[in-house]
Amino acid sequence: MEFKDLKTQYIRHREEIDRAVRQNMEAGQFIGGEPVSRLEKSLADYVGVKHCISCANGTDALLLALMAWGVGEGDAVFVPDFTFFSTAEVVPWVNAVPVFVDIDADTFNMSPQALEKAVERVKEEGRLTPRAVIAVDLFGQPAEYDRIRQITAQYDLLLLEDGAQGFGGRIGEKRACSFGDISTTSFFPVKPLGCYGDGGAVFTDNDEWAALVRSYKVHGKGCDKYDNVRIGMNSRLDTIQAAVLLEKLRFFDGELEEMNRVAAVYTELLQGKVKTPVILQGYYSGWAQYTVQFADERQRREAVQKLETAGIPSAVYYAKPMHMQAAFADISKEGIPCPVTEQICGVCLSLPMHPYLRKEEVETVCSALLS
Ligand SMILES: *Cc1c(COP(=O)(O)O)cnc(C)c1O
Repeated sequence: MEFKDLKTQYIRHREEIDRAVRQNMEAGQFIGGEPVSRLEKSLADYVGVKHCISCANGTDALLLALMAWGVGEGDAVFVPDFTFFSTAEVVPWVNAVPVFVDIDADTFNMSPQALEKAVERVKEEGRLTPRAVIAVDLFGQPAEYDRIRQITAQYDLLLLEDGAQGFGGRIGEKRACSFGDISTTSFFPVKPLGCYGDGGAVFTDNDEWAALVRSYKVHGKGCDKYDNVRIGMNSRLDTIQAAVLLEKLRFFDGELEEMNRVAAVYTELLQGKVKTPVILQGYYSGWAQYTVQFADERQRREAVQKLETAGIPSAVYYAKPMHMQAAFADISKEGIPCPVTEQICGVCLSLPMHPYLRKEEVETVCSALLS
């Protein structure tokens, strides 16, 4: 059994993907070009925002957003304590300071109450200026944007949506990667919409920020890349990756439907035995992960062993809170406590989740887990 089944996906769609890649090779165009601009247009339409700017990966996408806003020295950026390292890593890159915020025990996403407390505390201390919030759509479910928006409006903060795992999720009819002032995603192969290498994108309705991101991602270009008006970077999505993504986007909605079917079977079989994912009313997950919670660490350890014995892959996302990462040791000393994150790191477990999982396979996972 596969944790993510990229092989089956390829075999099912081999003809279209091969044709797209071959056409690209025959055209001899590997950087930029029509597939990249067509992809950007398709993604912007899909998400429902004005601008999509492709880039080299999801980490760069976050960094480009902070650069476009001019976040820097003396600024506080509020980041969930429970996320992939990139979300927090980009903050010191622009010389700002990440402030870790605890999560909600049901959704795994940033707790709006904890966010408000953290902003108040930073203001009281007066050492840093609260500047931006990076909300993460963890495991595929959008963060609680209606409540987070109230807080960012009240304290005049910029909102960055890290939709690396969120692409395909929605709140009502509004899609993930449209919730931030700027939103970003990743096309790392096992993300909801993955390419065949690294890739990422930035989304925004704001013309000025879009133009800045387009400049920063190509060496701070002015009228072209040999006219350099600011210090930027080199962050491009390869043409071949754009060609692959254009094909994958065609069947992406069908995959989302299949993953919802898989999630429903898991939840039916596991409910009441372990804590199953909670999807808020009116929210739709893109199911980047199906993550359960055990009563304690020992129970999780036993479950992992049982799955391993049965040859079933599973993964602990995430074993360590951001504030306990060695890289953040110096700033975490005066940090705000994040007890929910600490607890969940000890009991969470992500199970195989992809559109090609058969019902019998889900049953096999559940019976091994509960045996
Ligand atoms: C994967 C991921 C990223 C980074 O994306 P890359 O394309 O690997 O750079 C950022 N944030 C979150 C939440 C992620 O899961």
